[in-house]
Parts: sequence; C-alpha cells; structure tokens
Amino acid sequence: TCQYQPTGPIETTMCDYESLEKVNGDLASTLDDLVKTPFFKYFRVQLYRDCPFWQENGQCANRGCGVTSVDESEIPEKWRAAALSKVELSFRIALIPSQKHDLPGCYYRDSDFCFFDDFTEGEYIDLTANPEQFTGYSGGSAWRVWSTIYEENCFGISELSLLKSPSPAEVSLPDTMTAAFDNAPDSGPQCLEKRVYYKIISGMHASISTHICYDNLNQSTGVWGPDLDCFINRIAMHPERLQYIYFNTVLLLRAVSRLGPYLTAYDYCTGDHSEDEASRQMVQNVVDIASSVGKFDESVLFRGENANVLKEEFKTHFRNVTRIMDCVDCHKCRLWGKVQTTGIAAALKVLFELDDKTLSPTSNPNLLQRTEVVALMNTLHRFSESLRAVDHFRKMWSERVRNS
Ligand code: FAD
Repeated sequence: TCQYQPTGPIETTMCDYESLEKVNGDLASTLDDLVKTPFFKYFRVQLYRDCPFWQENGQCANRGCGVTSVDESEIPEKWRAAALSKVELSFRIALIPSQKHDLPGCYYRDSDFCFFDDFTEGEYIDLTANPEQFTGYSGGSAWRVWSTIYEENCFGISELSLLKSPSPAEVSLPDTMTAAFDNAPDSGPQCLEKRVYYKIISGMHASISTHICYDNLNQSTGVWGPDLDCFINRIAMHPERLQYIYFNTVLLLRAVSRLGPYLTAYDYCTGDHSEDEASRQMVQNVVDIASSVGKFDESVLFRGENANVLKEEFKTHFRNVTRIMDCVDCHKCRLWGKVQTTGIAAALKVLFELDDKTLSPTSNPNLLQRTEVVALMNTLHRFSESLRAVDHFRKMWSERVRNS
C-alpha cells in the first residue's frame, strides 16, 4: 500500500500527479526557507477562546501541546498590534462597511470563508519554534472535533440541485460519530461542490496525520522520527486520502498563482530592506512553480441555478470549520489547525470570490490581511511537506520489504 503512487490527472483539476511530484522538491525547499523569514514565521492568533459549540474539559495536559508566544518587541514594527489595529480597523470598515458582521471575539466579511480573530485579541507565535508534530492529543476531544468538521459536509441545496430528496443523514446531523465520517462523497450521487468540500476537509486531515506520523514520538523508546506503521494505518490504507493531499496542494497553488502579482508586490515591510527583497524573491519562485502546476479550474464550480445559494452554504460550512478550531483541546494542534483552516479559507476566497480586477495590487493593496498571507504560504508549505514525507515513507516501505 505504501508503494501506491497515483498517476494521471488529479480529479477535478487540470494537473496530473506526476507534474506535481516533479516540482514538489523545489517547492518544498523554497517554502522551507520562506517560512523561516520574519514576515512569514510570526502568526498572530487568539489561542485561548472558549469553544463556541460545547463545553470543553479544560486545557490539554500533554506537555507536547504547549505553545510559546513571543514578545511583541521581536515583531517587525509595522506588524505590532498597535499598528495593525489601525490598518485592520480601516481595512475592516472601509472595505465593505454595510456588510460587516460582529460576533463576540471574532468576525468575518461577506467574502470570507473564515472567522478571524478580532484585531484587538491574540498574541504572536513564532511558528518555527512551535512545529506541528505528534503531541499526544487524541481520544474523545479530537474525535469530537473531527466528527463535527465532517458533519459540516451536509449540504441541503446540493441535493436539491441533483433533483434528489435529501436523505435524513444529510438534513439532520448524524447521531453517531462514525456516521459523520461515513458522510463521504462516494456514498451516493453528489454535486461537484460537495465532493470538493469533502476532499478539502479529508485532505487537510490526511496532511495533518502525515505530519503526526512523520514527526512522531515513539512512546516506549522516547525517540522522535517517522513511524511507518502510523502512516500505513492512517493514510496508505486509504489511497483516496493520499489523493486529496495532492488535490489540496493544487488548489492552494492555483490560489497562489492567481495572487502572483499581488504577492510579489506585497509590502513585506520587516524593517530590513534586503530581508524583504529576499522574501519577495522566494515568493516569486513559489509563484512561478504555482503558475506551472496550479491548474485548478474554479470556474466549473458554483454554476447553474442554485449557484449562489450553494456558495453561501459552502462558505458558511467552512467558516464553521474555522470556528471549530477553538474546540481543539490542545493548543499546539489548535494553532496549526487555525493556520491551515485560515490558509485554505484564503485560497477559497481568492478562487471563488475575487475576480482578476480585484486581485490587482495597485487598485486593492489591502485585499488580504497579513494573517491570510502568512497562513496561505504556511499551509502550502504543510501540504508540500506532506508530499515530501509521503516520498520518505515510500522509501521506508521499500527498505522494509527488502529486509523482510
Ligand atoms: P483521527 O485522526 O482522530 O480520525 C478519526 C476518524 O476519522 C478515523 O478513525 C477515521 O474514521 C476518520 N479519518 C481519519 N483520517 C481521515 C481522512 N483523512 N479522511 C476522512 N476520514 C478520516 N495530533 C497531534 O499529535 N499533533 C497535531 O498537530 C494535531 N493537530 C490536530 C489538529 C486538529 C484540528 C485536530 C482536530 C486534531 C489534531 N490532532 C493532532 C489529533 C489527531 O488529528 C488525531 O485526532 C489523533 O492523533 C488520534 O488519531 P486517530 O488515529 O484516533 O484518528
């Protein structure tokens, strides 16, 4: 199962597995460097908000779940809270004044696929000092979060667009957790949007699992390293999960490709001109790779009679996924969950909400918040790293077979 190497077109994209594999080494190593730069390594986030959906048991006691924040004085001046508040406040009010939504602790604009932390909240985390890895977080809390995320895969209108009556499992939330995980796209006729939604979620889950298996703690020996059996059980035995990691990578690359002119003109402004130029050059390299393989045709989604209703539904579901991150009872997992859901939400916004004119860096320099730019590139890095880790697991498997 570990030798499984998908070939041919990546479903619902115009890219093939081989093309992505060919460029992934360069992509991953460029992103390795990019995410260490001052602009991309600091992520501002509120990690201590209560779960809005249920009462959590309290803080996860695992030592691996701890997150260290950085003092604001380490942050380039332009990105400190005081300066940001001014920028984000005007950004938030000026952009779509009549459609601003305020919720306790977080907000969104109508085009967002994500709930954002309020600009007055949160602290800076150095992502490089708090890597995503095995933390020991598991059991009921983790299951509940994953199952709730999969339950967000219930679309009413999508069933209507197929002229099929919604099944009970699709109009009401499933009673059991396993029912939620079974709500997969191959369980009956589904519209393209619902399939894409499931792929995004399952691909993100698969990518997180790949990192956990790759940077794993052997609890009997205390040694860190890749755990092949973990990868076999969680990913390799389910080839579609591996395919969805590729799918998400293409989706993110397409967003980066569309954002190319905007990202290369972005004011990285870390206070060090040569550092900013180096970041810009790395971004350009990523954009170049993205333009060659980020071939996803977003125009085939949200077409037809119920397109707008379906898109709103899709957006609402994904926003809820970003809110569910406040229910992850392990701060390091919550941190990376927020980074990745924010990054995917930014990509979805770029693909489904913004036209080429809006994406112009001159007419719309404040199109994205810094948080979205940082999250997008770090999320692409996570997926690209997953593909690199998959390659490593394939080699481990070959070695195991040779030695057996
Ligand atoms: P889980 O991964 O919890 O999966 C539960 C069930 O979902 C499985 O039994 C299966 O039926 C189904 N399933 C699994 N994968 C997929 C897929 N790709 N597609 C569809 N269905 C699937 N732990 C860490 O150690 N480090 C982290 O950084 C970390 N981050 C996390 C972030 C989030 C947002 C969440 C919710 C959890 C995180 N966890 C993390 C916990 C981790 O994801 C697992 O929940 C935990 O390791 C227990 O794994 P499990 O084998 O029981 O299955």
